[in-house]
Amino acid sequence: MEMMALLFLFVAMFLMCFGIGVVFMVYMCILWSSILQNGEGEKGGKGLSTAELERLGGAADGGAVAGQECAVCLEDIEAGQAARVLPDCRHAFHRPCADRWLSAHPDCPLCRAYLHPPPPPPSVPLQVVLSA
Ligand SMILES: [Zn+2]
Ligand SMILES: [Zn+2]
Repeated sequence: MEMMALLFLFVAMFLMCFGIGVVFMVYMCILWSSILQNGEGEKGGKGLSTAELERLGGAADGGAVAGQECAVCLEDIEAGQAARVLPDCRHAFHRPCADRWLSAHPDCPLCRAYLHPPPPPPSVPLQVVLSA
């Protein structure tokens, strides 16, 4: 009977150690994946993604901002050229120039005003559609 109790204790101890080991492994995996995600987040946070550029808006034809100098290529924006007006500081640039700059820097090339990338659209429409 004492033998059985000892065996039971041994098995219990073994299972406990095994459990702690598994929890520790899972914890390390979560920690590691969050570190990896943070690294990607910093990389993506340097500039605006194509989707963020789309949501930024400020698209204008050259007519509205014609005559203004594009600070990226230092040439004037001409009527009919695609342009982009930054939402916060209202500085205007050629659209390709602005997009090229903004994909690498999250700020205005002229006054360095930090652009707050618009939040991604809410991911609820699918649920709304399902419940409607
Ligand atoms: Zn330009
Ligand atoms: Zn600006």
